[in-house]
Amino acid sequence: MSDDTLLDRALLRLEEAANHLKIDQDVIEKLKYPRETTKTRLLIRMDDGSRKSFLAWRCRYDDTRGPTKGGIRFHPDSTVEEVETLAFWMTFKCAVMNLPYGGGKGAVRVDPHQLSKTELERLSRAYVQAFANIIGPDRDIPAPDVYTNAMIMGWMADEYNQITGEVRPAVITGKPIALGGSLGRNDATARGGFYLVRHLATELGLDKDHTVSIQGFGNAGQYYARLTAADGNSVIAVSDSTGAIHRPGGLDVEKLIAGKEAGRRVADMAAELGAHVISPDDLLGVETDLFVPAALEDMITKDNAATIKAKVVLELANGPVTPDADKILNDKGVIVLPDILANAGGVTVSYFEWVQNRQGYYWDLEEIHARLLKIVEREGRAVWDIAQSRNVSARSAAYIHALGRLANAIEAHGTQPFFAG
Ligand code: NAD
Repeated sequence: MSDDTLLDRALLRLEEAANHLKIDQDVIEKLKYPRETTKTRLLIRMDDGSRKSFLAWRCRYDDTRGPTKGGIRFHPDSTVEEVETLAFWMTFKCAVMNLPYGGGKGAVRVDPHQLSKTELERLSRAYVQAFANIIGPDRDIPAPDVYTNAMIMGWMADEYNQITGEVRPAVITGKPIALGGSLGRNDATARGGFYLVRHLATELGLDKDHTVSIQGFGNAGQYYARLTAADGNSVIAVSDSTGAIHRPGGLDVEKLIAGKEAGRRVADMAAELGAHVISPDDLLGVETDLFVPAALEDMITKDNAATIKAKVVLELANGPVTPDADKILNDKGVIVLPDILANAGGVTVSYFEWVQNRQGYYWDLEEIHARLLKIVEREGRAVWDIAQSRNVSARSAAYIHALGRLANAIEAHGTQPFFAG
């Protein structure tokens, strides 16, 4: 791998999209750098009475189109660069879906599995205390990301309410339903990807009963498996961080999910599912119609991309395919449905949660699904049409689509030709 940082590589997509549009240099200058990134240390009391300090960040990348929006990740490998890159992707994701938001992201460098529940609560509350002046319903709205969940969002919303002395649930999304969370948020990321694939199935060359392999069997991966299996497709291989399994005739998805919920690893369930254990790298080489990366970033690189046999890749994870790997897949004729479109169902239902919190009136599940479907099909179709008309990849098309909207918003504030004028 080159010395380029994750953000450098992400910015390549911006430059490439800019080549397709007549865009003022002011727009690129604005989008090349995060607007503000705040770093702090969270000092919390551990259960044994000692104190421990954790690095934490919040980045507001760009707020031209609205308050910044993005999850908070608790991960031992988090870095400022990862946070800024994820915030950059959020900026483009919200623009692709035409949500009235900019992009943000946050993280704490911690392995949450090493903390007790009370320590986790103190850490979550400390995060809000540290960033209370940065977040806010009209300024910057966090949500869950890797290793954070509804329970943590509930603690964070509660802490914010205590600090401000008001009940303002719209400060954070992905909350428990009992605290103003939206119906349908749990499976929204997977559902958005599922609606997208179903809408474009003919164009993608996917039959009604296509085969699917899934890398990463957490929130996004499990819900995708459930939705696609219920629609008549066959999930034939899955992996988690410890191993992978394969059954060409199709896996029993509900049994797999029940096992994961009980804390088991996918490889340990192979025998009872009639599957065989394969190495995580071999998962990429499985003969399948659709491959769904749903784990972490940078999983498909120039070293393993050539082994992928799928016709279509649906990026439920953020940034799972590096630019080098992207090129290899493109040359092989594999269609990649890019993260900023493919996994945007999550932020779209987060937006619905924010809207419902602000209006104080809540929608039923049917309405959430109908609204999500409408947005995914509208923006998915727009991206597909750009890809066809400009003869570019779906990823380039998604960036072109988003950049057009960002440029319009930035130009509406006045760019160089206006002031030189
Ligand atoms: P999660 O923590 O619930 O699941 C992650 C899964 O990936 C786990 O099963 C873990 O075992 C697995 N994993 C980790 N390393 C792996 C490896 N090397 N090989 C195979 N599997 C591995 O997280 P999630 O919420 O499902 O998020 C997954 C991805 O989707 C992330 O990139 C996240 O940013 C993205 N995403 C999630 C949402 C959401 O709403 N949950 C929204 C948008 C994007």
